[in-house]
Amino acid sequence: MMKEWADTSWEYALPPHRAEPPLERRGSSLLAVDPLREQKFQRLVKNVQACHYCPRMEGRTRVLGPANGSLDADILFIAEAPGRLGADSSGIPLMGDQTGRNFDVLLEAAQLDRRSVFITNAVLCNPRNEQGNNAKPTTQEIQNCSNHLREILVLLQPSYVVTLGQIALSALHSIAKHEVVLAQHVGIPQSWNNRWLIALYHPSPRACIRRSLTLQKEDFRCLGAFIRKTGHFEE
Ligand code: SF4
Repeated sequence: MMKEWADTSWEYALPPHRAEPPLERRGSSLLAVDPLREQKFQRLVKNVQACHYCPRMEGRTRVLGPANGSLDADILFIAEAPGRLGADSSGIPLMGDQTGRNFDVLLEAAQLDRRSVFITNAVLCNPRNEQGNNAKPTTQEIQNCSNHLREILVLLQPSYVVTLGQIALSALHSIAKHEVVLAQHVGIPQSWNNRWLIALYHPSPRACIRRSLTLQKEDFRCLGAFIRKTGHFEE
């Protein structure tokens, strides 16, 4: 029996990952979304749209809404933060800039499409430096937004949590501890809170210097193969 993520405790012992396929409801966009989940998501979106925890995010798009993906998704991608020319403009995570175009190529390598996954970020608004360029989110901003990320995890109950880059991996650790090291465990599924955690590199051009798009395509191809092998996943 699978343990649900409790609202109050995140640090329970990890049982071995189930040998059985993931939740019955997973893997098909043909299944109806639980109306309660829909309601809870709408409430979360409303709270996020009204969030003013981070002073330098004033005026930025709060990138959380129906365009993030299916509430029935069994695969949750977590990236770093909306980009100035990407999600901050398009309102859709990993869409509209070169990072988004790279991500589309990688999704294709995994034989996944956006309709069957949910995409979010460690912080839901676009951090910029004084020159107006993209900046890394601060530790405080990641902390400020961690409750939103946690609520998304609780709501979706994904069997596969895929982090894109170090920031997302660290943000996840602050919610529920793990021992995953990106450089060491890239692409290797780890059991985490009775889910699979798969750490991948971020698809931004900057991150592609550290891990080429060619290698990332192979990472994503393996990710897709793993999901098809272990889940009830259907396109
Ligand atoms: S980044 Fe998150 S915590 Fe900060 S203002 Fe945006 S929604 Fe709120």
